[in-house]
Amino acid sequence: MAAATSTGKSPARAAREAGVIGSGGAGFPAHVKLEKPVDTVIANGAECEPLLYGDQWLMEARAAEVIAGLKLILDDFESRGGKPVRGVVAVKEKYTAARAALESAASGDGRISLLPLPNVYPSGDEHFLTYEATGRIVPEGGIPPMAGALVHNVGTLSQIAQAARGEPVTGRVMTLGGAVENPMIAEIPTGTPLSHLVAAMRPKVDDYVLLVNGPMMGRIADDPEESTTKTMGGLFVLPMRHPHVMRMRRPLSTEMRISRAACEACRFCTDFCPRALLGHALEPHKIVRVINYDKTDHATVTSSWLCCECGVCDLWACPMALSPRVIYRAFKKKLKEAGIKNPHARNGLTAEYYRPFRGVPVERLVARLGLAEFERRPPVGEIAAPEKVVLRLDQSVGVPAEPCVSKGSRVNQGDLVADIPKGKLGARVHASIEGTVTDITGRTIVIQR
Ligand code: SF4
Ligand code: SF4
Repeated sequence: MAAATSTGKSPARAAREAGVIGSGGAGFPAHVKLEKPVDTVIANGAECEPLLYGDQWLMEARAAEVIAGLKLILDDFESRGGKPVRGVVAVKEKYTAARAALESAASGDGRISLLPLPNVYPSGDEHFLTYEATGRIVPEGGIPPMAGALVHNVGTLSQIAQAARGEPVTGRVMTLGGAVENPMIAEIPTGTPLSHLVAAMRPKVDDYVLLVNGPMMGRIADDPEESTTKTMGGLFVLPMRHPHVMRMRRPLSTEMRISRAACEACRFCTDFCPRALLGHALEPHKIVRVINYDKTDHATVTSSWLCCECGVCDLWACPMALSPRVIYRAFKKKLKEAGIKNPHARNGLTAEYYRPFRGVPVERLVARLGLAEFERRPPVGEIAAPEKVVLRLDQSVGVPAEPCVSKGSRVNQGDLVADIPKGKLGARVHASIEGTVTDITGRTIVIQR
């Protein structure tokens, strides 16, 4: 029997009804991750992506809610699994205020402990955290539950606590920064047009691009009318000619061409790859060799499935500024199109001896990216709610949500506007502002205030 929340629902049911998805990654529906009990639940407060500060603030300001979400899961897993379950709050050692707040919120619950993390990238990777918290390595191509662990971002845990009170997800904390006069940490309604945020941020440069979710694993948003989603944790204005922007915009054909010409086979990319350091069969120097010399090396080509696209190989390790990551990404796309699944699934792996010495120091990483001038914590601010929100129906992993309102419907903030198709993987979508539904397309629902 599942432990119930204050609304009488299990955490999984409450999260499903509230539309909670992983707020720190690809957006996997939280309720699915809550179905099967594991022995360790990890609260991911690493926030290792440079320039982001939202989670750090959230852990300070809403520590009680983060811990409440964690406890709900521990109670539920213990009551269903019949065994004790550990809660581990993984947070950077240098976040002293967040650690103090979390420690105080968790005091008296012997199941929960804090795991101080070094200030290295990518300490927020699920595989990294699982190993640090349990000493177990997630199998190749696997997910943490295969090693008995569940990893939830601290923002997701806070949303699970809200869901347990019957409050759906209608917004999230974002970091807004870069070359702007008014950087801030703010709560932003889901579906807010990026142009609305940029106007409030007041760019200091005329020619700029918009970087979403950070410089390592983020992307450049080409359309300023794109809207925020439940997985968007940061928006940064960067000068158009900034070297990192130019690097991010380098086309695949250029990556391939310079890789052919410049790879010196030093294998630094492999030596620093966080997944390779956990024993996974991932050797980025070989993927570069494959495109240069040996297209029949199927094991290397299919190892593309094991790459989490963290960017360590290209943005930190490679002395020639080549990008095995981009090549892996291209191969992954081709494998997917060809219906070729991941054949790599080794378990019982051993971490490399050198792993503890090869974390990437975030401060030096930021300096290398040329972003040191933007790496400072902004104040907490507020942005006027937008007149219009554009809610994407495909914000989570799985199939898009199905609209359950019509054009012209009046909605209040928090009303359900799109549901999970029966029997499918996906997440609900709720109105993030009060207003009228003015448009419904195959991909979005527009609400005008
Ligand atoms: S992006 Fe590079 S460093 Fe990161 S997992 Fe993939 S190959 Fe390894
Ligand atoms: S680090 Fe760069 S130069 Fe060295 S093997 Fe990898 S891709 Fe080639």
